[in-house]
Amino acid sequence: MNLELSEEQDAVRQLAEDFVAREITPHVVEWDRAESVDKSIVKKLGALGFLGLTIPEEYGGSGGDHLAYCLVTEELGRGDSSVRGIVSVSLGLVAKTIASWGSEEQKRQWLPDLTAGEAVGCFGLTEPGTGSDAGNLTTRAVRDGGGTSRSSGAESGGDYVINGSKMFITNGTWADVVLLFARTNDTPGHRGVSAFLVPADAPGLTRRTVHGKLGLRGQATAELVLEDVRVPASTLMGPEGKGFSIAMSALAKGRMSVAAGCVGIAQAALDAAVRYAGEREQFGKSIAGYQLVQELISDISVDVDAARMLTWRVADLIDRGQDFATAASTAKLFASEAAVRAANNALQVFGGYGYIDEYPVGKLVRDARVMTLYEGTSQIQKLIIGRALTGVSAF
Ligand code: FAD
Repeated sequence: MNLELSEEQDAVRQLAEDFVAREITPHVVEWDRAESVDKSIVKKLGALGFLGLTIPEEYGGSGGDHLAYCLVTEELGRGDSSVRGIVSVSLGLVAKTIASWGSEEQKRQWLPDLTAGEAVGCFGLTEPGTGSDAGNLTTRAVRDGGGTSRSSGAESGGDYVINGSKMFITNGTWADVVLLFARTNDTPGHRGVSAFLVPADAPGLTRRTVHGKLGLRGQATAELVLEDVRVPASTLMGPEGKGFSIAMSALAKGRMSVAAGCVGIAQAALDAAVRYAGEREQFGKSIAGYQLVQELISDISVDVDAARMLTWRVADLIDRGQDFATAASTAKLFASEAAVRAANNALQVFGGYGYIDEYPVGKLVRDARVMTLYEGTSQIQKLIIGRALTGVSAF
């Protein structure tokens, strides 16, 4: 693995750092207090190509490799995890999954707008009753009309009628398209699940904002309710019954993006702790000169480096076409817990000032905490790693 960034990778990282300084940092406190990022940020992200990384240019993408995607994600996470999450979901979980699994028609319909920031995507897997156990979801899509082609065996024509609900959906109230997972047959567990690209304005689809989140307060998180939502069969993505594999392959890559966002949080914690330690004096000298403060700072630094290396390894494996799923779980598990530790250590360096939101570290603590919960909790990552090592599923 080459740890030296290419000129292109370094240029895209610098572009992201400048963008954050100009368009995000001045608004972070205001967006957090208002519980909403300014939505105009989406088009600005699209204009710079940040919503099209790794997507082929013929569909409006900006190309680039997964390390470039990690670098941009890290810089966005360093600036504001709420903005970082918009990209991780709209590009990472939705556009990239359409690019891998969508039909030509679906790619042409959605990718140019998603990559330009003219449309936003959300990923509808979790339900009120099924989080970690997503394969047992109960939202149901029932076929109405159409049939099976004799020559290809593929389902064609007719509609699906969808009923059910989804919980904690990032970008939910902003989205133009929902990558929705629903049960299309009664086979228990994940085998009867299919993936659909449901337009968010489909009649019968309602969205409610989830208020009162501990962190990621600027992000539009929603509950989706589907009552007799009728969509054409052409919205089915991939074969019927393949939806759970599609969701899991999306999440495996998505975990790299969450891990990169966590590196950004930990780096922001380090930047803030070093700066503040140099400015603050107690007992007649800079607190940077106390060994116990240096211990806090060096612990953050070790977490940043280790989390970054694990995350870059995932990017390298993906770009070389190697298996990456276990490495992605390892990176996500370590980086998310490292981000929580790093933000907490930085808050300690700030003392009481860390506890009020005029200073940056309290928000880092709040934003970091969810990283150990979504896209598979830390316990679920350990079960994935454990299964890969022992060959035994302990789910
Ligand atoms: P549960 O699954 O009920 O877990 C509760 C506890 O039990 C956890 O500690 C868990 O680790 C533990 N546990 C469960 N099963 C096992 C087991 N077999 N062994 C050991 N321990 C176990 N979902 C989406 O689909 N799309 C999104 O865009 C999205 N965005 C989100 C944004 C936010 C801010 C949040 C909070 C969540 C989001 N989620 C999203 C949902 C998220 O992925 C789930 O919350 C997560 O998968 C955990 O599910 P749960 O909350 O139902 O917890």
